[in-house]
Amino acid sequence: MKEMLIHYGELSTKGRNRKMFQNKIAEHIRYQTKQLEKIKIHAHHDFMHLYWQEMTYDDLIEIIKNIPGIQRFEPVFPVEKDLQAIKEKALELFTKVEIQPGETFKVIAKRSDKTFEYDSIAIQREVGGVILQAYPDLNVDLRQAKHKLVVSIHQDKAYLSLKNYPGMGGLPYGSSGKGLLMLSGGFDSPIAGYQMIKRGMKLEMVHFASPPYTSLQALEKAKRLTAVLARYATEITFHEVPFANIQLAIREHVPDNLSMTIMRRIMLRVMDALLKERKARAIVNGESLGQVASQTLQSMSVINEVTQSLILRPLIAVDKNDIIAMAETIGTYHISNEPYEDCCTVFAPKSPWTKPRLHTVKEYEALLPIDELVKEALVSVKTSQISASYQSEATTAFNELL
Ligand code: ATP
Ligand code: MG
Repeated sequence: MKEMLIHYGELSTKGRNRKMFQNKIAEHIRYQTKQLEKIKIHAHHDFMHLYWQEMTYDDLIEIIKNIPGIQRFEPVFPVEKDLQAIKEKALELFTKVEIQPGETFKVIAKRSDKTFEYDSIAIQREVGGVILQAYPDLNVDLRQAKHKLVVSIHQDKAYLSLKNYPGMGGLPYGSSGKGLLMLSGGFDSPIAGYQMIKRGMKLEMVHFASPPYTSLQALEKAKRLTAVLARYATEITFHEVPFANIQLAIREHVPDNLSMTIMRRIMLRVMDALLKERKARAIVNGESLGQVASQTLQSMSVINEVTQSLILRPLIAVDKNDIIAMAETIGTYHISNEPYEDCCTVFAPKSPWTKPRLHTVKEYEALLPIDELVKEALVSVKTSQISASYQSEATTAFNELL
């Protein structure tokens, strides 16, 4: 039996919601491991104890590090509460670590069972002593040791751990309610999504697509980005909204330099309707102040004017360079970097207004049958479920040929 402890961090301050938070984390771990093994989970006040048999430590570490709401985690090795047994286990753990001469170590002992016959200082001295005997090249450093062996004396057993891993942080997936992410194929929106997932928001994706003006590859790009986000979530609901008719109507009736403003206002009207239908509470997008013409304060306020819904913009103050660096870290970079154009790019005006005026925008909107266009788009929304193992249709067809 292998064992691991998971520490919640921020969650520990959440008082009466604690049970719900713990259940969300447990549910998430069960979801992410269900193909591999049924693992046993015991939730305690400040930590969660996992027991399993088959998976390697590395397999589970890969999964746990992508689960929001976890501050840190550590594989632990149980042993009976006997100093000799503890020393033997400590030596055994050290045999699995590559140790370079001159490296530092320390032993940290914690007793939740105060009746144990040795106090913390004595445990540290005794266990540290045998390690030093076996590895004379190691140096003790009580401040900044490279290798830290933690010996915890619990009521039932002693637990040893030698490696501590940082978790993803944030809050358990789904503990902060549900939002709809406006997902394009670019770099920004997937990162905006990742940040909200990390903050505990369950997300559904909404992608506006304009076939035949946009390609199947552009749609698949959005779906594959969704699959990457699903690594940090569970299965994700993906809505494809047909947008070509709306864009054609705009092109026909609206001057070029206002088309983008009106297009975004119509996107938000569609989002509003979907928000009600999907019982979600917030719209999330990848806007970043000043990045493009639609993201000046003037543009954003004119666009925002069509809706009362809460719009969250987690990247509003984040620079493009930092967004790109995050894309590399979370695994969306290589997909966002593919060249397929989405509907905003295909219909992009040459010189969009950076300071659109609301009354002019409204005058032109009056020329469009907006309600009908929105309704027509809504009845044609295609909804699917995307998991982390999603393969695009093209890839599946290709693999079948092999
Ligand atoms: P991204 O911002 O994701 O890199 P982008 O740069 O192509 O994509 P912008 O013009 O910056 O798009 O659009 C701002 C935001 O509007 C996006 O971050 C995204 O949330 C939303 N958005 C743009 N295009 C689409 C689309 N086709 N479907 C859904 N949402 C979109
Ligand atoms: Mg952008």
